[in-house]
Amino acid sequence: MMLFRSLAAAALIVVTTVLPLPALAQDDEPRWSIAIHGGAGTIRREDMTPEREAAYRAALQQALDAGTRILEEGGSALDAIEAAILLMEDDPKFNAGRGAVYTWEGAHEFDASIMDGRDRDAGAVAGVTGIRHPILLARKVMTDSPHVMLAGQGAEQFAAEQGLETMPPEWFGTEARREALERMKADKLSALDVDIKFGTVGAVALDRDGNMAAGTSTGGMTGKRWGRIGDAPVIGAGTYADNRSCAVSATGWGEYFIRVGVAKSICERLLMVRNFESTSAGLRATGPGFAQILADSVMDDVKRLGGDGGIILVTAAGETLYSFNTAGMYRGRATSAGVSEVAIYADEEQPSDR
Ligand code: ASP
Repeated sequence: MMLFRSLAAAALIVVTTVLPLPALAQDDEPRWSIAIHGGAGTIRREDMTPEREAAYRAALQQALDAGTRILEEGGSALDAIEAAILLMEDDPKFNAGRGAVYTWEGAHEFDASIMDGRDRDAGAVAGVTGIRHPILLARKVMTDSPHVMLAGQGAEQFAAEQGLETMPPEWFGTEARREALERMKADKLSALDVDIKFGTVGAVALDRDGNMAAGTSTGGMTGKRWGRIGDAPVIGAGTYADNRSCAVSATGWGEYFIRVGVAKSICERLLMVRNFESTSAGLRATGPGFAQILADSVMDDVKRLGGDGGIILVTAAGETLYSFNTAGMYRGRATSAGVSEVAIYADEEQPSDR
């Protein structure tokens, strides 16, 4: 045990001394940042038309701007991520709310969660139908119920009591999603064969008060049945936020993200390094690039088990980053340092925003 501890400490010293020091903000202006995603997957240039690509970029920018405005004006991280997710839930291009994938039975069942990094309060809903904005319901579970997670009919009853807006089934449906389900059934394909991208939406943010929040919303995977629940509503898997470390939202093959506990694993590793740093004078382990290494290591773990997908992340220092092992991920980020960008493919430049 002692030997293991010494080895672990030595490894950290090696890692921390070769990494650059963090570029701490020189000005007194509190910083803010936000990152969003609209799903990861087999998103390739050759499968896109210019119009379709432009439509995705515009939708991402719109969601990013909605969150940005709130943060610029001094609003909370929770309100910022909610604003970004609301727009994507209403957009049929994404697999959340309107435009969600179909279950085996031809219905839409939503999963969503939200987490407040201040006190790690959280709310989640799983397998709910007819709710226009599942992210609002998740937030209500957090703020207006004594619970963290509600499912199915009970969650819908709670939604009705809270006065949440509902929509008829046809409002959520799209031709493309219906066709994906039919193809899956006819050709006995898996959800992965027909879901060329996952399409879940999510957002993470750090506000001027230093508070972080994360949220994720999805229709799950095409043809899901038997009440299948993915990672999106599972706190610690698809969503996690802790002011001491980071905020994460995930998209991908949910079963693997649950098994790895992706979102919390990343934040936990970051926290461990931070704690180590604070007890080791002169060592700085949280410079730019370090969170990326930790996030990539967790995503490597997902890949090792056979899963794919990606995450978005903001750190307590305001760094924003992505980590994904798919051909693309609909994504965007903005910071108080003047960054505001959206991207789709893996090979698009992602300059450091610090
Ligand atoms: N993670 C989601 C799920 O497994 C799917 C997605 O990201 O689109 O339900």
